[in-house]
Amino acid sequence: MSPLDTPGTANVGDPAGTPDATLVADADAADAADAAEVAEVAAEVRARAAELARDLDEHAYRYYVLDSPTVSDAEYDRLMHELAEIETCYPQLRTPDSPTQKVAGSFSTLFTPVEHLERMLSLDNVFTGSELEAWAARATRDTEVDAWLCELKIDGLAVDLVYEDGFLVRAATRGDGRTGEDVTRNIRTLSVVPTRLHGACVPELLEIRGEVFFPTVAFTELNTTLVAAGAKPFANPRNAAAGSLRQKDPRVTATRPLSMIVHGLGVHRGLDVAAQSEAYGRMAELGLPVSHHHQVVGGVAEVEAFVRRWGEHRHDVEHEIDGVVVKVDAFGLQRRLGATSKSPRWAVAYKYPPEEVTTRLLDIEVNVGRTGRVTPFGRLEPVRVAGSTVGLATLHNADQVERKGVLIGDTVVLRKAGDVIPEIVGPVVDLRDGSERAFVMPTRCPECDTELVRPDGEVDVRCPNTVSCPAQLRESIFHFASRGALDIDGLGYETAAGLLDAGRVHDVGDIFHLSPESFEGLRGFGQKKIEQILRGVEQARHRPLWRLLVGLSIRHVGPSAARALAREMRSVDAIAGASTEALAAVDGVGSTIAASIVDWFADPRHREILERVRSGGAQVADAGADDGPGPLTGVTIVITGTLVTWSRDSATEVVQARGGKVTASVSRKTTFVVVGADPGASKYDKARALKVPVLDEAGFAVLLDA
Ligand code: NAD
Repeated sequence: MSPLDTPGTANVGDPAGTPDATLVADADAADAADAAEVAEVAAEVRARAAELARDLDEHAYRYYVLDSPTVSDAEYDRLMHELAEIETCYPQLRTPDSPTQKVAGSFSTLFTPVEHLERMLSLDNVFTGSELEAWAARATRDTEVDAWLCELKIDGLAVDLVYEDGFLVRAATRGDGRTGEDVTRNIRTLSVVPTRLHGACVPELLEIRGEVFFPTVAFTELNTTLVAAGAKPFANPRNAAAGSLRQKDPRVTATRPLSMIVHGLGVHRGLDVAAQSEAYGRMAELGLPVSHHHQVVGGVAEVEAFVRRWGEHRHDVEHEIDGVVVKVDAFGLQRRLGATSKSPRWAVAYKYPPEEVTTRLLDIEVNVGRTGRVTPFGRLEPVRVAGSTVGLATLHNADQVERKGVLIGDTVVLRKAGDVIPEIVGPVVDLRDGSERAFVMPTRCPECDTELVRPDGEVDVRCPNTVSCPAQLRESIFHFASRGALDIDGLGYETAAGLLDAGRVHDVGDIFHLSPESFEGLRGFGQKKIEQILRGVEQARHRPLWRLLVGLSIRHVGPSAARALAREMRSVDAIAGASTEALAAVDGVGSTIAASIVDWFADPRHREILERVRSGGAQVADAGADDGPGPLTGVTIVITGTLVTWSRDSATEVVQARGGKVTASVSRKTTFVVVGADPGASKYDKARALKVPVLDEAGFAVLLDA
């Protein structure tokens, strides 16, 4: 098994994963390759193959010509694989015009057709390490390959550039591989594409292939603008790139931040290069945009390492990548291996698992958070994407629902990039049948029926009932006990909801009054569980002040503001008694947070909660707050890099316990900069520039002991 494969690796080529697997499986059982040639093709298999070919052609038309696909790339790949499997079993069905045999591409009457000097091909795909190894074994069967070129597979659209005597004379889309669309005027608007090659020694003729892409960060902005103008949003950055380049009016193309990376060589005269990697070096000298991420390696194990590495860093590049392209580096060997009607035999695309799928948006509901924020979220037909099944996706706020232009009942593009929260990218407008309806933001809280408010200038709608809204109470108790706040072992969401529903707690203050009796008669609370929770509560009584501040769910007060407040003010009483100005003057707080704190403490019900916290024995001031100056009073420390003995939080706590401050940025007021492993270069450099003494971890330990 390849190291890239894990047991159960989802494989597009796995017939068990296709709806019509039985057709293929029957054929498999009936035979192996030789006899297949003569196998009788059952009518249902023939019909399925014809249906697949028709659907694939239709999808290719929508994708390449209209820039408006109605199925995800993963679904398209799955259909293609199913057809290829049928054709493997029944080669007589593999006609030259089958989608498995031809290069599919854009070919619109909007543009003048142009013949490519050399054919532009597609790439064969592999989806698992074993498939990659099998491809490499085939490529090396008759040739000795000692250099593989690994590159990122840019998810854009293929474009061919022709330079004559150094001048860009033509640019064309791939089209059917032989004839493309003339997009010369559009390509000239891309600043990365030189209209004249650099240097004195330019080739007489140079045909270059590359990918035009839409930078990922600019994509959301483009869709927002389109929806606001009543236009259809693009399904993804790849379609945005194709739609932006293939504009009849190049002035529209000029307004889009398109870019390009070149990755292939066609016909050329006056360029003497023996390998693809060498050609990239020359192309870069000529001023062409070459990727920095390619690498030449000696064996398949290193190719697999490259695939793995970029699988983990897929989102660290400015454009989308849908895989890695592996090429035999030497041109001589490329020529020997040749090509099929569709793809070269010397290159292959390893495709990463899809991060984008389509599914139905069944409904839009709202969720009330711990600070009363009302957030719409989509209830989806459950779908598998990037390794997990997704049935819900946040829509952030009502404006966002409008900006994305989604309607309830729409087929939507759902994206889950790695560990990132699933996001609804936008609707597939062309699949609407008129039954879809717009989402209307509720005017009353779905949990406590209080009228919702939308404060001036804010995007969020809120439930103002911060004290007795059941949703807010549940969420705030759960948050209070969570890792980022008081970290109460055993007190999770279910426990919080159970205690609230049974009336054993009413707010976070009651947590510190829990006793074994509080759990009497409640289901699911055994002796062990109760002891675990009470032990967790006892530990929480002694947590530093900043954690309590985070736990109180004061709007805008997150860990960094809470730390800053705890550092300066040292006790809840000092914070409660401070004016807005005094709070805003705390480094890292500012006027919005200050106003929110003053508002929170002004509410008598919140003061009651605090009294419950205090009377429950919890610490409401940091150690040393009332003990006069400590050994580090007046000392300000900045920590950069990773320390072995302390986490960032525990280092901050030990400094504060001694009366010192830990701040985020180096200034003239900084007393020491403590440097751990992999420090941030800017902090270290600034410390040197300002002549602030730098301590390593051992020096820091001495300082604490002093
Ligand atoms: P492909 O996208 O799988 O790969 C071939 C292309 O990759 C080349 O033509 C080249 O332009 C590009 N490429 C990117 N980086 C490259 C690099 N570093 N080196 C070489 N080439 C590089 O194949 P295709 O034929 O262009 O398109 C088929 C794919 O398009 C499908 O697998 C699917 O993902 C998508 N598609 C989707 C739909 C849909 O309806 N959603 C329809 C048609 C096609």
